[in-house]
Amino acid sequence: MKRFTYFKQWQCTTCGRKYARDEVTYLCPTCSIDYRPGMPLTGVLEAVFHYEEISRVLAQKGRQNYSLRDFCMVFSALEARDYPPLPVGNTPFYKVESLNLWIKNDALNPSASFKDRASQLMVAEAKRLGIGEIACASTGNAASSLAALCASAGIKAVIFCPENAPAAKLAQVKAHGAELHLVTGSYDDAFKAAMEYSASHECLNRNTAYHPLTIEGKKSAGLEIYHQNGCKSPDWIIIPVGDGVILAGIHKAFIDLKRSGQLVKLPRLLAVQAESSDAITSYWEKGEYQDAASPETIADSISVKTPSNAHWAVRAIKETNGAAIRVSDDEINQARLDLARKTGVFAEPSSTATLAGLYKAKESGLIRDNEQVVLLITGHGLKDIAGF
Ligand SMILES: *Cc1c(COP(=O)(O)O)cnc(C)c1O
Ligand SMILES: [Zn+2]
Repeated sequence: MKRFTYFKQWQCTTCGRKYARDEVTYLCPTCSIDYRPGMPLTGVLEAVFHYEEISRVLAQKGRQNYSLRDFCMVFSALEARDYPPLPVGNTPFYKVESLNLWIKNDALNPSASFKDRASQLMVAEAKRLGIGEIACASTGNAASSLAALCASAGIKAVIFCPENAPAAKLAQVKAHGAELHLVTGSYDDAFKAAMEYSASHECLNRNTAYHPLTIEGKKSAGLEIYHQNGCKSPDWIIIPVGDGVILAGIHKAFIDLKRSGQLVKLPRLLAVQAESSDAITSYWEKGEYQDAASPETIADSISVKTPSNAHWAVRAIKETNGAAIRVSDDEINQARLDLARKTGVFAEPSSTATLAGLYKAKESGLIRDNEQVVLLITGHGLKDIAGF
């Protein structure tokens, strides 16, 4: 069989079993319990690559001499020809002197959130398999993102959102012609509804972490940060965390770089969560998983009771010698105005949790002034204008 990418196989992050590309679709069949509310997913699959070959290919030309896009494609599990036509990624990365930090602005993706990276790969997978429909649960951004990427590729998107999702995000879903199901209850209820739908329909399910390509898709942001930073790791990357898939994706980027011999130092990952939606932070602190008591925060994109990717997220924090912290809604709001007024970047509350987190981490001495810090801006401010 001809190989078009350096993808080798899937490996279960729970038991280590390996599977060929089309042997499995979602979770490890041995480790995944049937989906149960109140439990993070087990048996999440990780993509493993032919790392020696990647290393050889990059050495031929020198990694800095690759364009950003070509560099990322070397690590892609899917071929460029299957990618949807709507361009994703290649977002700005630059230093903000006034706050002594670096910004990776992923709000400048086509649907105005980081989620486009995962949707891009899921649409490519549907193309590869000849599947005409993708279903997804979302607090709003994964929905608007999937709707946009599917529209560009002529694929049907079926979306499950909690009924209180921000109006702008629902408007995007409708504008792109997706089929929208509003679910009574929370994001966790929408997650369940999307699982039930895909179990009885011919489609792919894009629920975050459930399909391993949602993690792989998010990896491209980590690869971009590395390449845009002159092929060096920053000291810290600060990431807003809900389900823990962005965190896992960034972690995976640096793991893949390390496995292919590109990297000596992993950046430390700082996970920032809203106080009321802190299941991953508590898990990291106590070593034992427990649902968040009652997620209620203005940062809707990181509002989740049972983070689907909690196990990998905690591993990512530990492996990178990182940390997890909580911020309050007041702190998120204050940071939102600070960011907008001092940098010109208008971001949604989940994203500005990162700046609130940085303030706290500096105060406690966790992050020092001489360290290079990257704030991951994940969603545009226009998506959620409540409070203005
Ligand atoms: C989804 C999302 C997050 C959180 O990502 P997880 O993978 O759920 O941790 C953060 N910010 C924005 C804008 C998002 O849409
Ligand atoms: Zn397994």
